[in-house]
Amino acid sequence: MTIIKATCPCCGDVELTRDQVSLTVHPVKERSSYAFTCPQCGDEVRKPAGAEVIRLLKMGGVTPVPVDMPAEAAEQHHGPQLTEDECLDFANWLTSATAVAAAAAVGLHHRLDAGLD
Ligand SMILES: [Zn+2]
Repeated sequence: MTIIKATCPCCGDVELTRDQVSLTVHPVKERSSYAFTCPQCGDEVRKPAGAEVIRLLKMGGVTPVPVDMPAEAAEQHHGPQLTEDECLDFANWLTSATAVAAAAAVGLHHRLDAGLD
């Protein structure tokens, strides 16, 4: 069986089997990580997993666990951020709106904000 060498922050180098290592592969590359419970101190160790680490762990027989992430979480956003006042205005509008979905479909909230209705 393949031995995987990893480093515990407390104990230094430790040897693990593939079943002792979990690999989480995230759609956002920087969020991928691997984890293990140190066989010496029992601490849970989690570290970032770059492309090379992912490749080596897969070669060692570790089965990657994909992260299910909604597509919206990876969207790039442009323009100014929503301000606290805008959020409060929207919350106030929601409390008075009776047909939110219908209003959103026709852009009624813009007309309400402009005081046209
Ligand atoms: Zn340890």
